[in-house]
Amino acid sequence: MSDLLPSAGMAYQGADAQGFFGPYGGSFVPETVVPALQELTAAFEARDESFERELAGLLRDYVGRPTPLYRADNLAAAVGLGRVYLKREDLAHTGAHKINNTLGQCLLAKRMGKKRVIAETGAGQHGVATATTCALLGLECAVFMGVEDIRRQALNVYKMRLLGAEVVPVEEGGGTLADAVTAALRHWVERVEDTFYCIGSAVGPHPYPTMVRTFQSVIGEETIAQIAEKGIGRVDAVVACIGGGSNAIGTFYPFVVGVPQADRPLLVGAEAAGMGLDTDRTGASMTLGTPGVMHGFYSYLLQDDAGNPLEAYSISAGLDYPGVGPEHAYFKDEGIVRYEAVTDAEALAAFAQLTRLEGIIPAIESSHALALLPRLAAELGTEATVVVTVSGRGDKDIDIVREAGL
Ligand SMILES: *Cc1c(COP(=O)(O)O)cnc(C)c1O
Repeated sequence: MSDLLPSAGMAYQGADAQGFFGPYGGSFVPETVVPALQELTAAFEARDESFERELAGLLRDYVGRPTPLYRADNLAAAVGLGRVYLKREDLAHTGAHKINNTLGQCLLAKRMGKKRVIAETGAGQHGVATATTCALLGLECAVFMGVEDIRRQALNVYKMRLLGAEVVPVEEGGGTLADAVTAALRHWVERVEDTFYCIGSAVGPHPYPTMVRTFQSVIGEETIAQIAEKGIGRVDAVVACIGGGSNAIGTFYPFVVGVPQADRPLLVGAEAAGMGLDTDRTGASMTLGTPGVMHGFYSYLLQDDAGNPLEAYSISAGLDYPGVGPEHAYFKDEGIVRYEAVTDAEALAAFAQLTRLEGIIPAIESSHALALLPRLAAELGTEATVVVTVSGRGDKDIDIVREAGL
C-alpha cells in the first residue's frame, strides 16, 4: 500500500488492477456478474480518441460545459473569507453534475452494443440524468426506485416517465436508495447480456468507482484551468459535498494527481450529519462509520453489529447513503482529504445565505459544502481563497425547504 502514497515520492496512481485503493474498493459480487464487470473494465480501458471526442462534444454543446467558476463576493464578505469561487455544476443540463457521468457511461453502453440501461435512484436526480441521456442516445431505460422515494419525489418520477424511462418500484427494506441499488444489482445479474448498469456515484464494484471518478474529473480539471485563466493565484481550500462521493472525487482527484502536495489546497469533503452526530439520524459514514462490504465494495459504512447497513438520514435525499466511495475512504486514512460533517440546520442556513446574497438557489446537498465556509474562515483567516463545488441547483428542494420553515 505504501507504493501508492504521494508522500513516498511517487505519483498517486488510483486503484490497483483489482480495484483496490489501499484496503478499500475491490469487487465483492456474485460469480454471475464477474464476466460483466470484466467486459465493462475492458470497454472502459479501450476508450479511444473518437469516444473522447464524442463525449467532449456532448459535454460542451449538450451539457453546457465548461461550467463557470464564479467569484461570489457577497458571500465571501458574509462568511469572512477573502475570496470565494463557486464551481457552477448547478448550471449543467438537468441541474447537477450527474449528467457528466451518465453521458460517459451511456456512451460506453452504446459502444458495447447494449440496448438497455438500468439505473438506481434515490431523490431521482441520477434517474432523471440517466433517462435524459438514454432519450438522447436512443437507449431503453429502466430506473429502480424505492417506493418511499417514489412517494417523496413525484415530480422526478413523472419527469423520468416523460423522458421515456420505466420507473421500477422497489418494495424491499425502507424503500429508499440503498434498497434501489440492491434491486438494480440483482436485476443486472439476470439480464447482463443486453443490459448496462449505469451507477450514479463513485461506488459499487470495480471498475465503477474509477470509471465514475474519471467521468466526473472534468469538474476538477476545468477548475484548475479556470484558476490559471483567471489569474487567481493561491487557492487555500477546495470544498465539495459527499453522498456517494462523485462530485467530490471529480473535484478533488485532478488536484491530487495534478498539483504537488506542497502547493495543493486543503481538500475538504462535507458529509451529512443529519440531525447530529450524537443521534441515530445521520448519514455521516466517514465520521461515524466502520469499514465493511456493501453493494459490492469495501469502504466506510454505517452498519449494525451484525454488519447490516443502517438506514442513513439527511434532509438532503442525495446524501442519505450509508456508505461512501472507496477512494474517499483511502483519502481519509491517508490524510489526503479531510472530511467534516454538517447538520441539516447548518445546511439550511447556508442554503438561505447563498440564495439571499448571490441570487443562486443551491441544492441542499451542495449547501452542506457551503456550510463549511465559516469554519474555514475561522481556520484559514480573512484573506483566504476557497473554491466550493455547487453540485446542483435547488429547485428540486423548494418543498423541503418550505416544510423546514425557511
Ligand atoms: C446526487 C447528488 C449529490 C450526491 O452525490 P455524489 O455522488 O456524492 O456527488 C450531491 N449533489 C447533488 C446536487 C446531487 O444531485
